[in-house]
Amino acid sequence: MITRKSKLTRELSKIEGFLKPKLSLRQYMTPPAIASELLWTAYMNGDIEGREVCDLGAGTGMLTIGASLLGGRVTGYEIDSEAIRIAISNAHKLKARIIILQMDVDEVTDYCNTIIMNPPFMVIGGKNDKVFLKKAFTLSERVYSIHTTQTRSWIKKYAESNGYNAQIISTREFPLPKEFKHQSKELVKQEVDLWYFFR
Ligand code: SAH
Repeated sequence: MITRKSKLTRELSKIEGFLKPKLSLRQYMTPPAIASELLWTAYMNGDIEGREVCDLGAGTGMLTIGASLLGGRVTGYEIDSEAIRIAISNAHKLKARIIILQMDVDEVTDYCNTIIMNPPFMVIGGKNDKVFLKKAFTLSERVYSIHTTQTRSWIKKYAESNGYNAQIISTREFPLPKEFKHQSKELVKQEVDLWYFFR
């Protein structure tokens, strides 16, 4: 088990991302430093070690594997089989024990102590981060998540209307492939908030 944040970031930097990211599913891997910050906060709050942890939209396993390396019993849910294949290979490489279930987030009904997720943002209609957050609030009392800074006031109001306290852990620049923001540069920076919701 890992007990230092710097070591966690180093391990997470070995994780492979999506081979051919699917635009419709908003597939972009969380950068190791951001994943590590979110996970470490949850760990220090006592929400990872020895806890049942879920990751909604697990992708190639960045948060699922990170939570496992910190001593969580982790289940990741992911709709895309190609992403799951890479997540399993990443888990082998980092010697992490994880369970990944191929499922649409709508179908998840298992309660867990803690949810850690980086859901798809900026999907117009469809399964966007608000859909993921709504689901997370039905499954857990403690939710750690990442959302764009533009949606900050909506997110706070939405969490509070569901009976959750909403705290911003930090605000970071998240590099997104240009396809996600219709821009000409290869990578664009999206400002995001790292959130902790609890009740
Ligand atoms: N959590 C990962 C991946 C984030 S990208 C990381 O932090 O690196 C968002 C992920 O959500 C993608 O892997 C995408 O395939 C998945 N996803 C999108 N819609 C979904 C849905 N309806 N149900 C489950 N997973 C979904």
